[in-house]
Amino acid sequence: LAKDAGGNRYQMFDPETERQSQIHRRALELIGLALARDEFVLHYQPKVDLLSGEVVGAEALIRWQHPELGLLFPGDFLSHVYGSKLEQALGEWVIHAALKQATQWAQCGLNVKLSINVSANHLLRSDFAANLLTALSSYPEVPRSSFELEVLETMAIGDMQQAIQTLQQCKEMGVRFSLDDFGTGYSSLTYLRKLPIDTLKIDQSFVRDMLTDPDDFGIVQGVIQLAKVFKLQVIAEGAETVEHIALLRQLGCHLVQGYGIAKPMPANMFPIWCNEWEKQRA
Ligand code: C2E
Ligand code: MG
Ligand code: MG
Ligand code: MG
Repeated sequence: LAKDAGGNRYQMFDPETERQSQIHRRALELIGLALARDEFVLHYQPKVDLLSGEVVGAEALIRWQHPELGLLFPGDFLSHVYGSKLEQALGEWVIHAALKQATQWAQCGLNVKLSINVSANHLLRSDFAANLLTALSSYPEVPRSSFELEVLETMAIGDMQQAIQTLQQCKEMGVRFSLDDFGTGYSSLTYLRKLPIDTLKIDQSFVRDMLTDPDDFGIVQGVIQLAKVFKLQVIAEGAETVEHIALLRQLGCHLVQGYGIAKPMPANMFPIWCNEWEKQRA
């Protein structure tokens, strides 16, 4: 969406641009109110080990429980947040909500590694690592190695030094990093070697068509090999069918996530789902 250009450049009045920026400003007001009214929730999608079949973790995915419109998805509202003043506030909310949930689960004996998505501008703030440390210290029952941040391959564009520094600081606290949507950015191998990450997450667009498109199959196979070379863990997202899952296992992918295992679900469903999964597995 168009944003205010800022500065004192002269601009031609364009009604469409003006309309878009009105929508954007109003959306931000509503999102700010929703944050204050606690209307955001996290849903959780399991991550499963392809060899053992064990549930090893879950990705927290934000939803907006809108009083009139029902459940809204990130695609409905996040684009307004990116680059705005709310980006940090919403990002911090996600960190706290996930740590709170992890604490509650740990207290009932459910130990899952939680992953959260962190947006580029949030991660690249100079106070990100310090705030994360404060948050982690408020939830001492969550082992730091059980907390993973999913970041986009493109996050370091613009400020590679800052990105590496922040990642390094967070790694020193014990948290883990995953490169989300891997393959859709522009990572060079040099860049990949410089980033202190633990996991490559193969983008769902490649996984979806790998059974029919030889190029996508090649990319999935290639990323799995690359992970091996760099000694990284590799996870595939968007595995929708048993065929996807079987092929990923055959290719040596470590973990899998997708509708073929389970869709993202509300927090209260997650322990129930884990129980069912364990029963089936036995
Ligand atoms: P992502 O991190 O790559 O998350 C994967 C998305 O794919 C999720 O969509 C998930 O519900 C969906 N998905 C999972 N398995 C399948 C499958 O088998 N088939 C298909 N078609 N889709 C599948 P969702 O929840 O709508 O999130 C979309 C994106 O929004 C995320 O992509 C992430 O970039 C962003 N996002 C979500 N939650 C947060 C958050 O708390 N903070 C930030 N900064 N971004 C978030
Ligand atoms: Mg993700
Ligand atoms: Mg992804
Ligand atoms: Mg994505």
